[in-house]
Amino acid sequence: MNDSHPLAYRYFPGIDRFVVGDDPTALLDVDPTALTHYKSVEYYRYLPLPGISLERVSVDLSRRSRELCCEITTRCSLECCVCFASATPADAIDLSVADFLRAVALSRSSLMRLTFTGGEPTLSPHFARFLLEARRHGVPYVLSTAGAPPTLVDRYLMHHPPSAVYVSLHGLQTTHDGFTRRVGSFKKAVQLCKALVAAGIPVHILTTCAEEVARDLVPLSHFLRGLRIEEHRLNLIKNRGRLDSSPADPDAVLSLALSMRSNLRTTVKSADQPFQMLLASGVLEARHGR
Ligand code: SF4
Repeated sequence: MNDSHPLAYRYFPGIDRFVVGDDPTALLDVDPTALTHYKSVEYYRYLPLPGISLERVSVDLSRRSRELCCEITTRCSLECCVCFASATPADAIDLSVADFLRAVALSRSSLMRLTFTGGEPTLSPHFARFLLEARRHGVPYVLSTAGAPPTLVDRYLMHHPPSAVYVSLHGLQTTHDGFTRRVGSFKKAVQLCKALVAAGIPVHILTTCAEEVARDLVPLSHFLRGLRIEEHRLNLIKNRGRLDSSPADPDAVLSLALSMRSNLRTTVKSADQPFQMLLASGVLEARHGR
């Protein structure tokens, strides 16, 4: 098949990855965890089968995105020193249900995954409705949170289980609470992780690699091993939003991640593969790369 032929995709909840091939039948018996790009320390959400390049996957995704990332509110009770959304407790914008439904309808023919993010998405006044709509449309969703209480699990997630929940943890207690500028935020995030794991919901931990956070990565990895999480992802800082801290050296983060892998599945995300971003204002953007 030539390089302009559309690719086939299969989504794997739990590990939250897609496998991409030329032929849908080749995806039926595939083990995503055996693929080179899953085993790589670099994070890839779209894992090509052998013979398909990452570039070809990017071109195909740029033509037809498979996922929609929804910033459902810019409200957040934390004030992290690095925040792509520049979220604050005040002056919030909430995504309307009408804008969400319009974006879903636009991408419906290819949509295979939704992300609910923010701000703190659980503070959206329409949070329950968005979960309901994801279920009604039959689209798997991932929730990305930092400040939700453990009651989130019984109150919402058991009724509409996500493919995975991403919980932000930026170091051990002192470092995380300093990063979020909220004493107690580390304990709260850990309580949420425990409640999710106990409910059988896969947890991925996201760590933003500011300089002070990088110093905590090894002890954090040891701590996370006891929580039975699915994956620990280290995100390199993007030049976007609030940047009140210096980024850690990417090469140092990479070598730390490699050293931590025997302890816990650890990846480093330095770039995005193409996706659609729906901002709280209702604006829909194509995103690719950094
Ligand atoms: S938890 Fe997320 S949205 Fe809230 S301030 Fe921190 S980085 Fe921003």
